[in-house]
Amino acid sequence: MPHSIAQQIRAQMLQEIEQLRHQIYQYIQQNHLPEFGNLTQKLDQNPVSHWPELLQNWLTPELKIKVGRLEALQAAISLMDMGLYGLCSDCEQRIEQELLIADPAQQRCQHCATKMLEHSIER
Ligand SMILES: [Zn+2]
Repeated sequence: MPHSIAQQIRAQMLQEIEQLRHQIYQYIQQNHLPEFGNLTQKLDQNPVSHWPELLQNWLTPELKIKVGRLEALQAAISLMDMGLYGLCSDCEQRIEQELLIADPAQQRCQHCATKMLEHSIER
């Protein structure tokens, strides 16, 4: 993958993480569930990379989606740091660049994604 595109995808992921960070924080502030306790304080004190761990006991359905996405993006960024980004988790071929631009956290190539989808419909 050309360096400039990798940089562009990385920037896109960081931006999405930042948006999720805001949305999660707001969600917790607005939904004053007693069990949230001093969660916002804890979130303030920790980098966003620790958030999925901090939030794991408080996952409402909405938070689950956001935190899941946050984790997927963070995992993709660590793969990028290790130089392993963009390889299909099933067949280890390169994932098509268009797919990664459409969804930087994409884990499967076109072929395996389609296969998986067909499989899930059959079930
Ligand atoms: Zn594949």
